[in-house]
Amino acid sequence: MVNAVGTTRHVVVEPGASVSLPALLSSCFGSDVALLIADERTYEAAGMAVDDAIRASGRGAGSAIVLPGTPPPYADIETVALIESQLRERHGVPVVVGSGTLNDVTKLAAHRLGRAYACVATAASMDGYTAFGAAITVGGFKQTLPCPPPLVLVADLDVLTRAPAALTAAGYGDLVGKVTAGADWIVADALGVEPIDARAWALVQDRLRSWIADPRAVAAAHPDAVEALFEGLVQTGVAMQVSASSRPASGSEHLFSHLWEMRALAVGAPTVAHGHKVALGSLASAALYERLLARDLARIDVDGLVAAWPDRHEVERRVRGLHAQERIADHAVTASLEKHVAPVQLRRRLELVRERWPVLRERLAAQLLPATAVRTMLEQAGCPTAPAAIGLDVAAFQADHLRAHTIRSRYTMLDLAVEVGVLDACVAEVFGPGGFWSGG
Ligand SMILES: [Zn+2]
Repeated sequence: MVNAVGTTRHVVVEPGASVSLPALLSSCFGSDVALLIADERTYEAAGMAVDDAIRASGRGAGSAIVLPGTPPPYADIETVALIESQLRERHGVPVVVGSGTLNDVTKLAAHRLGRAYACVATAASMDGYTAFGAAITVGGFKQTLPCPPPLVLVADLDVLTRAPAALTAAGYGDLVGKVTAGADWIVADALGVEPIDARAWALVQDRLRSWIADPRAVAAAHPDAVEALFEGLVQTGVAMQVSASSRPASGSEHLFSHLWEMRALAVGAPTVAHGHKVALGSLASAALYERLLARDLARIDVDGLVAAWPDRHEVERRVRGLHAQERIADHAVTASLEKHVAPVQLRRRLELVRERWPVLRERLAAQLLPATAVRTMLEQAGCPTAPAAIGLDVAAFQADHLRAHTIRSRYTMLDLAVEVGVLDACVAEVFGPGGFWSGG
């Protein structure tokens, strides 16, 4: 179902797909034996069937590596080291059975051992299966560490449709995030910051509207809807492979998600599924975009904005003032200074804004969905759509609108809003009387 154009050579999604795994392993890995990695839950959901299929084909290699299921494994560098040490002792191809966490830790462990690997997906929960890189917590910070995706990805549609509903909803939230991620890429492209890679763009955006069209069917785990969702997530991962960047998958909505994750890690709060944070971030970005698009940026005062532009020292002072945790502030200062431009560059960019805004605004309006429509879609899919649903109070959520752009060097609409001097006003409007977030 997927044209694999990156490292991943085979993607098979169908009911009972695990029976096709041995043949795929033969074609990609020759006669190597398979080393199964799972946790207690994924072993029960799919691992046992995979284990049987592998043994029946004569590729079994002793007992599977099965991590405890409760609490579920965490994607940190310690878990990577654990998997790595167990794999090192045995010869064979790592075959991981699981979703985000298990795939990411195996992806990095296999890479450290110089081995290619295969993945059997157990939930349509995020776009990382086929992404280059693993999201791993190192020393309290989530980092995307470079490592190649699986050569083979197999998903049994019967398993995906039986996955916990919250996981499937998370995948839907991650995929809806591609709407604003695409809009942010349009902005970065138009302003000469980061050109659109046509091939990666097409992989994600050409069919995005159809993949996210039926959130009720996603919530009901209808096979066609779950298959479409999974395909969208896999294609997004492939787009990240071909562009060697997360840009096709990640814009301002992910900055919100990353900020919430960093803060939760800093205080040891329970983690919320990535896609649930992206869902709320997508809603925040969609609402802000509406306020930005309501403005005529063809009439900005370039001289005045350049004159008021902070220098690097002032940027650091402001960023530190936004973040209570020192470690997050340190990180945000580095990211913010990385994308900070000198006044002469700002002037050039603002002149581009003035010149291109009428066309850019049209393109953005065509790309985006109304925030109210995004809210309805997310609600129907079972995603959180209010800050309280992921443990945030409204005041913190509002302040996060001013913090999100500081924590990554990626250029998004939040940076454009800062540069044209309207971010504070846009945020005040969405939280003010009659605004999208008024009433919480
Ligand atoms: Zn994501």
